[in-house]
Amino acid sequence: MEKIRAFLRWMMIDPRHPEIAQAQYNELRTQIPSLYALLMVNAVAVAYTHYDVAPVYLTVGVLVPMLILTTVRMIAWLRASKITLGPDEAIRKMRQTVLLGSVVAVIYISWSLSLDGYGGPEERGHIALFIAITVIGCIFCLMNLPQAALMVMFIVTVPYLIHYVRQDQDVYFAIAMNIFLVCLVVLQVLISGYTGFCKLVKSQADLAAKQRETELLNAENARLAQTDALTELPNRRYFFNRVATLITNREKQQGKFAVGVIDLDRFKPVNDTYGHKVGDQLLMAVGQRFKELDLDDIEICRLGGDEFGFLYLGDLENAEKTGQSICDLISEPYRIGEMTLTVGASCGIAFYPEAGTTAHALFDRSDYALYNSKTTSRGQTTVYSEEHEARIRSERAIENALQSADLDTEFQVYFQPVVSLPDQIVVGFEALARWHSPVLGKVAPDKFIAVAERTGQINRLTLSLFGKAIKQIKELPGDLSLSFNLSAQDITSAQTVDTLLEAIEQHKVNPRLITFEITETSVIGSYEAAEACLKTLRGAGVKLALDDFGTGYSSLGYLHRLPIDCVKVDRSFVASIHEPVAIGVITSIVNLCRSMEMLCVVEGVEDRTQLDLLKALRCNLVQGYHFAPPMAFSEIAESAASSGTIAGLPLSCTDGMEQLRLSSA
Ligand code: C2E
Ligand code: CA
Ligand code: CA
Repeated sequence: MEKIRAFLRWMMIDPRHPEIAQAQYNELRTQIPSLYALLMVNAVAVAYTHYDVAPVYLTVGVLVPMLILTTVRMIAWLRASKITLGPDEAIRKMRQTVLLGSVVAVIYISWSLSLDGYGGPEERGHIALFIAITVIGCIFCLMNLPQAALMVMFIVTVPYLIHYVRQDQDVYFAIAMNIFLVCLVVLQVLISGYTGFCKLVKSQADLAAKQRETELLNAENARLAQTDALTELPNRRYFFNRVATLITNREKQQGKFAVGVIDLDRFKPVNDTYGHKVGDQLLMAVGQRFKELDLDDIEICRLGGDEFGFLYLGDLENAEKTGQSICDLISEPYRIGEMTLTVGASCGIAFYPEAGTTAHALFDRSDYALYNSKTTSRGQTTVYSEEHEARIRSERAIENALQSADLDTEFQVYFQPVVSLPDQIVVGFEALARWHSPVLGKVAPDKFIAVAERTGQINRLTLSLFGKAIKQIKELPGDLSLSFNLSAQDITSAQTVDTLLEAIEQHKVNPRLITFEITETSVIGSYEAAEACLKTLRGAGVKLALDDFGTGYSSLGYLHRLPIDCVKVDRSFVASIHEPVAIGVITSIVNLCRSMEMLCVVEGVEDRTQLDLLKALRCNLVQGYHFAPPMAFSEIAESAASSGTIAGLPLSCTDGMEQLRLSSA
């Protein structure tokens, strides 16, 4: 029973194997037109041989509608051969073919057997031959639709056999029997061929499915390789690949886009205070906000740590605004467990192609712009500009020239007098470096000092400059003090500090006359390392001054923590001395120094009014263009020798600074 059901299902074209049905149909549609052509040719031949012996209605009368029907079907199939059908349509079409094939077979066999009653042995022989070759031909043409081949074979050969049995014609019966058996064999061959065909299609379909699966898996692997595990945002690899692809595409289309880098502000303290778990949760929350942003023209990636990158494909005029809105979005508070946390974000943006034409160049430029945001305007967005480009170029030029500079001949020390008030006596000098590069000409100290610091050449430069300064100050009469600026790297290098002290000893200068100026920022970076070095210096008897006071963190705590002898009030306060705030700051620093028994130098005095105000505030040490600019050693040496004055001011003969310190105490 089960077998019969399976056979019937097969006969009806099993819809459970759509891929087989479709492949079957594709093969079939090319063969059916040949089948119809074969039928027509053979039928015309039979009608022709029987034209004289059979009635006209049987030959021509039946033949013509048969030919019309066949031609219509043939044309339909020819048309269909150009159209690819889906599996359902193909199944429907093949069911139709099994049915129609059976009808056509009934018509043709009835017609040919009805003609068998006319004509002599030759005509009858033709009929027997016609049926035999036509049925075998048809079965072959239907090899891709064995269901139809089976129907046709039985519809034709069974009446054929019965017809000749009834006629009692041994020869024709033998022929019919022969054909029947041949057809069975042919059918068996066809069916086994068809089974092979099905297997092939199935294995091809399996292969295709496997391939699809592999492709999906590969795509998923590729996605994971380009995804950040923590935030599930695209990662650094994706970011750089995507920028590279955009560059290649835009090169062809001459388009523009922007690359941005965002760095969280105050993330490190969160991580340090609450632990990495909370830090990770915070990063995930930031990532979630980005995902919810869902903007068309922006793609945000996590580059690592608390750094994010984005690609902006919209109107470049809005790029800065977009960067800023991302920073603002990040700055909204986060709810992590029971806590509410806030971080800020700064952003740097670079435009393609203005800022660079490779992914790394664009990234470096946006990073440079970010660095500018971080140092000058935290929480803001900076777009990389021509100005930045010029700065990078000049920094690079300085770096190159510095690398090959001859420190002995190209560098000089200038001296700016430090003046005591109210008597206006020069008590010492601040040494300030000057560089005249044969390549670049004069380079400002704040520029080359920054480059020397960044490229690790500062220690070498400091030692060379200090050597010059101490040698020269010794040549001046009296006990003049020397202030010398040190960088962060100097006060964290024990070796540099030792060499500085050796130089003081070697030149037999009283260490009390030497003041090393340091800034808050240089100490804050690595307080532990600096503290030890500063203690060594202090232990050797030299003084320490906190330079540019009031500009940096200005944490009064440092005044207590650091072994400081002197504070230098930044010149920006003197420049705005007419403002009450500035006066207030100067007054409180002066008073604080007095109460802490520290010296206080106010820098940047440029005119008489400022001087009078400072005198009224009871400042006792000043420096500035009003008295003298930094001068070459030859100039001060000559002036001191000829008149005993510098810029018209008398030189102190004793350790003026120390006396001031004692008198203020
Ligand atoms: P600084 O230590 O604050 O030095 C004072 C700066 O103010 C000097 O600039 C000086 O020329 C300038 N100045 C003096 N009086 C006035 C004034 O009345 N008005 C104005 N507007 N400016 C005045 P300079 O020589 O260009 O040096 C700039 C900075 O470079 C210095 O600032 C210091 O931080 C650094 N520097 C200079 N020489 C050295 C050095 O040998 N070693 C290190 N580490 N840094 C140095
Ligand atoms: Ca200084
Ligand atoms: Ca200063």
